[in-house]
Amino acid sequence: MLVKSLSILFFIISVSSEKFRFDNYTLYKVIPKNVEEIQVLQNLQNSVPEFDFWDDVTPVSEYVNVLSKPELKGDLESFLSGAGIDFVVTLENIQDVIDKETKKHYTRSDIRSMTWESYYTLEEIYAWLDDLVAANPGVASIIIGGKSHEGRDIKGIKISHGTGKRVVFIESGIHAREWIAPATTNYIINQLLSSTDEEIKTIAHDYDWYIFPVTNPDGYVWSHVGFRLWRKNRSPYGSEFGVDLNRNWNDNWLKESVSIDPTSNVFAGLGPFSEIETRTLSTYIMDMADRIDLYLSFHSSGQILLLPYGNTTEPLANYHDAMQIGRRAMGALSVRYGTQYTTGNIAEAIYFATGTSVDWVKERLHVPLVYCYELRDRGTYGHLLPPEQILPTSEEVMDSIVEMIIQAKRFGYMNYNSASTITVSMTLIFAMMTKLIL
Ligand SMILES: [Zn+2]
Repeated sequence: MLVKSLSILFFIISVSSEKFRFDNYTLYKVIPKNVEEIQVLQNLQNSVPEFDFWDDVTPVSEYVNVLSKPELKGDLESFLSGAGIDFVVTLENIQDVIDKETKKHYTRSDIRSMTWESYYTLEEIYAWLDDLVAANPGVASIIIGGKSHEGRDIKGIKISHGTGKRVVFIESGIHAREWIAPATTNYIINQLLSSTDEEIKTIAHDYDWYIFPVTNPDGYVWSHVGFRLWRKNRSPYGSEFGVDLNRNWNDNWLKESVSIDPTSNVFAGLGPFSEIETRTLSTYIMDMADRIDLYLSFHSSGQILLLPYGNTTEPLANYHDAMQIGRRAMGALSVRYGTQYTTGNIAEAIYFATGTSVDWVKERLHVPLVYCYELRDRGTYGHLLPPEQILPTSEEVMDSIVEMIIQAKRFGYMNYNSASTITVSMTLIFAMMTKLIL
């Protein structure tokens, strides 16, 4: 989600090699009741960069998460109370939550040691992908989608039970601190390779899956070793670091919800695709664009399924089909744990935002179905979703992907070239020929 600048804080942590601690930093859920209160919050967001707004304040905001450092908590609370704006403290001391996030570590002697009870480092995720490929020869292979500023690979996995199938593409972890996104993506990879569920086995076999759990590897590493709440990549701009990689794609670049200020958390870079991560990954995607039927991007938080576009509320392209498919998928998502998602296009559901990957994929590459998940939760933990919620989040998302593909087929998408369709057609042709001969 969107955040404004935190220039002073970022400057301190950018020049320090110490891991930043968030002792007694408090997370608030602020709930505006009307347009006037939204206006007051927008002014606060723009005028006091020390308050870290985890969500942009928009006319449709039901709540915003705001993080305050200890010495400013009194000021924030008295300001909100004075303005009559409702708020609750959701996390009194976020360092307590951070301390519990990475308890388990991946050991290479057993690929099942990747559990869904902890968040893993980039090194651990990449090692796990290598081990999965070794354990699934002929089905899984390592793919490299691009490079990062600090020279890391954007490493992913291809799951394929045959050649020439249509593609489901998953791009995850482009915002570093949204750790639930790579965690959920890893679960999806694991399910596609090892589930005994017939529906999951079918979708695993019917498509070629190209999956990148961490498309911002430098930022992800920094969110583990330096600053837990880092969002951008790590390329230097003067004394500042980082471009918001999901504002850097070449589609309506710099039009909405972005900044040209390198201290901002939504700094869009010096031009479209100025960053090596977006430049290399977009080239990789473009080279296979005509094979992609479904493109999914994973973020947190807010429990929203977003459709392009972020620059207009107009229902463009196959919007109505995509909405129906998305809503039904979110219906399936809600069955297991009752988790409710809102479905809508980016501009109408949360905010105007441009230069995003999903808009570029939809508008420039004409991929038929493109969705962005804003995963759990709705304002309690935000980007610090506790590890106990990794498994339920992942399970319900997997349910939704199965349903999304079933519904897409009903609406006439994702049908061609699937192994089962070809088998059925060949059987039918053979039956007809037999009948004719007889
Ligand atoms: Zn995000």
